[in-house]
Amino acid sequence: MKRSKFVKLALHWQILIAIGIAVGFGLYFPTQYKCTPETFDDFRLKADEFNSFEITALEQIITDPTQGEAAFLTSVEQYLGKPLVPKQKKQLLKAARHNPPLSWVEWFGILFLKALRMIIVPLIISSIISGIANINTADSLGRISLKTILYYLSSSSFAILVGLIFVNILKPGIGVDINLTQEVENIEFTSGSFFNTLLNIVPDNIFKAFAEQDMLAIIFFSIMFGFFITQIQTKQKELLTNFFNATNDVMMKMTLFIIRFTPLGVFGIVAKTIADNADNLGNMAQGLGMYSLTVIGGLAFHALVVIPLFLYIAGRSNPLKVYRAMRTALLTAFSTSSSAATISVTLQNVQQKCGVSNKISGFTIPLGATVNMDGTALYEGIVALFIAQAYGIDLTIADQAIVLITALLASIGAAGIPMAGLVMTTVVLTAVGLPLEGVGLILSVDKILDMFRTAVNVWSDSCGAVIVAKSEGEHLNV
Ligand code: ASP
Repeated sequence: MKRSKFVKLALHWQILIAIGIAVGFGLYFPTQYKCTPETFDDFRLKADEFNSFEITALEQIITDPTQGEAAFLTSVEQYLGKPLVPKQKKQLLKAARHNPPLSWVEWFGILFLKALRMIIVPLIISSIISGIANINTADSLGRISLKTILYYLSSSSFAILVGLIFVNILKPGIGVDINLTQEVENIEFTSGSFFNTLLNIVPDNIFKAFAEQDMLAIIFFSIMFGFFITQIQTKQKELLTNFFNATNDVMMKMTLFIIRFTPLGVFGIVAKTIADNADNLGNMAQGLGMYSLTVIGGLAFHALVVIPLFLYIAGRSNPLKVYRAMRTALLTAFSTSSSAATISVTLQNVQQKCGVSNKISGFTIPLGATVNMDGTALYEGIVALFIAQAYGIDLTIADQAIVLITALLASIGAAGIPMAGLVMTTVVLTAVGLPLEGVGLILSVDKILDMFRTAVNVWSDSCGAVIVAKSEGEHLNV
């Protein structure tokens, strides 16, 4: 069959073009908010946060389309003559959201993310079980795990050090006006302790863990299952190993099929992000310029200098080749802001393009996407010092050592989903006694920074798989 030139364009180029067009689309069709009588047809059903007087009053308002959530909420509050509470704001924004052109394309992104999430659990289970079952001896399983964990801990610690050095030199927080702190709403900060997270690695009910996509629990169960396959009689062992190898092959084929739609999916996701934040983009560029530059500069240094050094020294690999092999996964991570949603693409690139065996990648990539987050770790360290600088609080070297340790724990505990890193900043801020409201200073730019740090998270996971594979004597393409 003859393929058109467009189809032949490499996938990463297609994704880049999709991102470019999506940015233009989002800027041209920014999301607006408006009240019309119809706004409340649907809204009324869900309006349990409003009393009947407020609903009747709201039904009378007809507002002009307003760009930007804040401006719209202010106009409604003025009309009602009283401030709205956070839950009311959330409902109202949902009901009054108005962007017909975006709704034609938004569903590409929704469907793409659904497809990626759909395959996460079966893919992780089959890749880990078949990977571990093929490792065969407890000794090599122990060795591979040890190397992987050693890489995760050292690369993340270096990332935090890079962040701390950047923030100490550039001092982006000095002179920031803390009166501009945005109210921290709609974010449920974490209260779970690190010890509880450790306990929860062992699930009470594995089916509940599957249903809730509880990654660490699924990974733990799959490692156990894979390991005990190696401990049973040869005949059964072969049967189960073949079964999970075959399932894994099917899952990889499904992944490949879904990956083909990445440009469309990414288009929908990026168009929505830009359209919804169009009013904010100017502010993002100005107000927090120095803070964002510090984070992006630190991330770039870690991704372009530190990790390549790891690759070169510990993995004897060419970083440029690994980068080229991983382009699709990196762009997917960047656009979706989710290392978990990107797992399937990362696995596919690491196996098919870098040539890492399923034995190693099947285990290291899902684990890395859950616990190894260099970008997030680096960001956590910078946030703590930025807030300290903005509030004029001096953090001693001992305090910064606590930041290093808690940022590492926070990055391990953060889930591979959008904005998880922001939620985990509480862990670091609490440890050194910094004001939690300080998070309000960085809220507006977090969506954008999340994209960069997620790409670095996935980059580090991929390089970890390559380094471990090389150290185990595998012959790779990179
Ligand atoms: N979004 C990041 C990830 O999925 C986590 C974070 O928010 O830092 O890797």
